[in-house]
Amino acid sequence: MNQEKIVELQKQNNMYAKCLLLLEWVIGIISSITFFILIFVTSYIDMSMIVRVVLIITSIIIFIIGMVFALRIERIVGFYKCSKCGYKYVPTNKQMLLSMHIGRTRYMKCPKCNKKSWNKKVIK
Ligand SMILES: [Zn+2]
Repeated sequence: MNQEKIVELQKQNNMYAKCLLLLEWVIGIISSITFFILIFVTSYIDMSMIVRVVLIITSIIIFIIGMVFALRIERIVGFYKCSKCGYKYVPTNKQMLLSMHIGRTRYMKCPKCNKKSWNKKVIK
């Protein structure tokens, strides 16, 4: 495979990664809005108790499914870069679920240097 073909494939890969990360935001926003709308509806509109319970359970299921898909996309697309040693890695599901985060920057333990720090998402 020649160099131009490799560069072209890397560009395509980066484009797909950016699309997937955008999809993560869309899934997260839609599932969150759906959750809040259904909770709002069950709180303020008069309905029977069984309908209220079904709507609350539905909203929780939609929210959980959305968050699972969003987290999965965030985990497998690109890498996290350790701010201490620069090592790039893919975190475990447990790390993704339990780590504090601000957007896509997560406070996690680096598998190489074993230090905890705020690690940023990188695509390349
Ligand atoms: Zn490190």
